Amino acid sequence: MKDSALIVVDMIYDFIDGSLACQEADKAVANTVEYIGRNHPYPILFIRDHHPANHCSFAAQGGPWPPHCVQGTRGAEIHKDLLPFAEEELCFCKGEDPSREQYSGFEGKNEAGQSLGEVLGLMEIDNVVICGIATEFCVLNTAEDLLKAGFKVTVLKDCIAYVEAQGHKEALEAMKAEGIRLI
Ligand SMILES: [Zn+2]
Repeated sequence: MKDSALIVVDMIYDFIDGSLACQEADKAVANTVEYIGRNHPYPILFIRDHHPANHCSFAAQGGPWPPHCVQGTRGAEIHKDLLPFAEEELCFCKGEDPSREQYSGFEGKNEAGQSLGEVLGLMEIDNVVICGIATEFCVLNTAEDLLKAGFKVTVLKDCIAYVEAQGHKEALEAMKAEGIRLI
């Protein structure tokens, strides 16, 4: 499907085995690798949480989270099993402004300063398939922004991981009610 793309949200080490390790993260990564194997070739775009050390979402600055995905650390790196699929111009960083929380990857920027939404437009993508971490934060917010921007959105429910089971369940219900397809 040349008008479709896969968007991998925050499959980076701090959300897998690091300071904010999420439930089902290893399974979500393995299932994503398998999904890519079955659906290749297929443009794959990566979103990365990528914070300065003094980011406002960290507890020391009054935020809700422990330090995570700090620029230049292993915790901010894409999982090694997915890294071979990550092209630099299709990797989008978010959360780089120390004063702003950014759960959605929609306005994430690549090295050239282009946003995810802009690049999807240039690639003439209509359908986006989303997987990643965490369901109730960055997956939910990214999926909702893409839906609002007019894309057809599908979430791979075996390829997502979460902070809490209840929040995961509620986020899936909310997405379904909004018209996001869950498969
Ligand atoms: Zn973050």
